[in-house]
Amino acid sequence: MNPYLKNLRKAEYIITYACTGACRHCSQGNIVRDSACIDASRAASALDKIAASCSLQTVMCFGGEPLLYPDGVYTIIGRAKTLGIPHRQVITNGCFTRDKAEAVRVARRLFDCGVNDLRVSADAFHQRTIPVEYPLEFAIAAARAGIPVQVQPAWVQGRDADNQYDRETRRIMDIFAMSGIAENPGNIIFPEGSAREYLSEFFAQNAPQNPYEDDPYDVRCLSFEPSGKVLNGNFYNTDIMDILAQYRP
Ligand code: SF4
Repeated sequence: MNPYLKNLRKAEYIITYACTGACRHCSQGNIVRDSACIDASRAASALDKIAASCSLQTVMCFGGEPLLYPDGVYTIIGRAKTLGIPHRQVITNGCFTRDKAEAVRVARRLFDCGVNDLRVSADAFHQRTIPVEYPLEFAIAAARAGIPVQVQPAWVQGRDADNQYDRETRRIMDIFAMSGIAENPGNIIFPEGSAREYLSEFFAQNAPQNPYEDDPYDVRCLSFEPSGKVLNGNFYNTDIMDILAQYRP
């Protein structure tokens, strides 16, 4: 195994950058949100090879809004389950269809394919373009389907902070709590993408670091993009094991 990847434990798949939200705190900022989605069949084949060479613990699907392409999520998470990867996570904003019956069907399919950790994003920022009924109703449908579900907020300064955004997010968390949906600690917004542009007043001092950034000398997570990009290569035209072997920081 490439020494820079000796602690590789997670594979994450950006199913698509397309999104139903337009959040002012989004770390992806002005990325082109075209309709491209990952080739899930090839992504699952790559996962087979990676899992055979290291002890993956987590497979995650996110976006954009990953459930705009639910078949891709079923394929990748289903393969992770077959491979015995224990932690199978999806992060969604809960808004991918106006058809409530379809949302319930998707929740059941997610359970069937093996999702065992569903994070539904909701906070003052998502609420601006995604009415809270979407993530709330989807979270309830997923919980009823048998999936462990948590609502995942983003905080500007913290859960107890006194600013307009965090106050509003607390109000939204109360709505989820009343429906029995557990709250995840969430994350503190860091100055990247749209957050850097719209929330700069909060970053003047002690700006938080991006907690998701990997050490290039000790890569713990592979991030697959819809274009096929991963590490320094592209798994659509290069064997994933060659990409891993040839990786240098
Ligand atoms: S934070 Fe999530 S829901 Fe909001 S625009 Fe970014 S990807 Fe979409």
